Amino acid sequence: MCENNRQEGAENSPQRAEDESFMREALTEAACGDLPFGAVIVSNGAIVARGHNQGVRLNDPTAHGEMMAIRDFISRHPAEHLQSATIYTTGEPCPMCMGALVWCGVRRVVFAASIEDLSPLIGQIMTPSHAILAAAPLSDMEITGGVLRAEALKSFIGVDGSSI
Ligand SMILES: [Zn+2]
Repeated sequence: MCENNRQEGAENSPQRAEDESFMREALTEAACGDLPFGAVIVSNGAIVARGHNQGVRLNDPTAHGEMMAIRDFISRHPAEHLQSATIYTTGEPCPMCMGALVWCGVRRVVFAASIEDLSPLIGQIMTPSHAILAAAPLSDMEITGGVLRAEALKSFIGVDGSSI
């Protein structure tokens, strides 16, 4: 009954018309991941970078979907262009990724499943993205959570929870 209130908070910016279609692209990336996490970066209405979890393949526990999407972006674009970009990510950014997104000046973060949603399924650091943002007065980032949340959680069925 209270499902609609689940992701709402003073800081949660409203969902936009285009959010679901871009999140579907992030879910497609997640399907390629070592763990089902994926992200796309959107600028001027187009996808300009993609990433999925490659923690096992790269022997790199920092190779989260968001980090891989940032690396993809900066390999081909000036980093400052991230300041007008939106990242769509299937899981709420962890503190590492959220810190990276703040340092990159990313304008908007849209996520599907929250850290709280994911914590029973896979190891999480229990600091929500809003808490990182609140501690980063240099950032004017907007955060929208819960876009295609159920679909993102479904992708974890059968996944063996680990810390990567
Ligand atoms: Zn992360």
